[in-house]
Formats: sequence, C-alpha cells, structure tokens
Amino acid sequence: MKIFCVGRNYADHARELNNPLPTEPVIFMKPATALLKPGQDFYLPNFSQEIHYECEVVLKVCKMGKHIAPEFAHKYFQEFTLGLDFTARDLQRKLKEKGLPWEKAKAFDQSAFVGEWRSKEKYPVENLSFSLLKNGEMVQQGNTQDLIFSFQQLVCQISRFFTLQVGDLIYTGTPAGVGAVSMGDTLELKAAKETLGELSVK
Ligand code: MG
Repeated sequence: MKIFCVGRNYADHARELNNPLPTEPVIFMKPATALLKPGQDFYLPNFSQEIHYECEVVLKVCKMGKHIAPEFAHKYFQEFTLGLDFTARDLQRKLKEKGLPWEKAKAFDQSAFVGEWRSKEKYPVENLSFSLLKNGEMVQQGNTQDLIFSFQQLVCQISRFFTLQVGDLIYTGTPAGVGAVSMGDTLELKAAKETLGELSVK
C-alpha cells in the first residue's frame, strides 16, 4: 500500500507558507508505517518541537491503473475520508533550506491519520466542505471546489509516474489554517456536518 500526498493544492495554504502556486501537482509519499487509524492516538515524536496538523480529503484507490486518462480517473476511487498529514514543520523548514528531501519531516510513523471511509456517491465530493476542530474550535475550513488540481487531475498525474494499486491512498492537500499541536489537544475532522475522525495528542 502506498500513500501519496499532494502539497500546495489550495491557493490560500500555499500563500500562508510563502510558497508559489504550482503549475503541476507537488507529489510526495509516505510509507505504510505512517498510517494512524481511527481509534488510535497521536504521540508527539521527540525529534520535533513543531508538529503541524494539515486536514485533507483522502481518496482510496479502488482499481489498478497506469497512465489514467482524465475522463476515466473518477473510476479509480469510490471512497474518501478526511485525514491529517502531520508535518514536523521545524524539520521541514531546515530540509527545504538545504534542498534536501522531506521524508523525515513528513513520512514518520503516525504521520498519516485517516478517518472512517465513506462512499463518494453519498457526498458531493466535488463541492465538499470540511473542517478541523482543535479542542472544539474550528482551525481549518476548506471546500474541494477550491482545489488547484481536481481529484481527477491528481489521479491522472500521479499515474503518469506510479502504478496505482487497490488500497493506495491519496492525500489531496490542505487549505489554510495549518498550525501546531500540543500534548493534550483533541482533534476532530468533519465532512459537511459528520465527524469522520477524532483523536488525541499524547
Ligand atoms: Mg499536506
């Protein structure tokens, strides 16, 4: 199982981190050991003093494919959820300055939280509002209408380079409002009005 992540896919978030808007998707990966499932808590790692949440819509690949044409891309995912792309922002900043790969800051154990899966047939996935609450207060709010690269474009672009396999996940990018978590925080991920994931920071 592979975990693909897309960076800078909402203009407001790219701007808040002073990054230019991408002309093609920024893609990186996390290993399967990064997965944090519903019911598990997040433990702050000891190599960072600044772990950020990034709430994102996550797609689950349901069909194997390579070089997928945009018009068929919608057939490659049936389910979605909300997830968190946990990021060691202090470490990422240092790696970026040196032009080094991001993995240590992005792909560590537990860095990929996923909520409960839902069928895309039952939700307006092309116009889905979603939000992240930290300790009951809304800190991030997004709508998939504001994606720079649509779900279909992402499937198409990723499959130019990597064979998509059943069970692979695609984190589709985060809107503005990213910020740090501290020990004792609770996080709640909501799609429309339904809670798809909840976890505590330990
Ligand atoms: Mg992200």
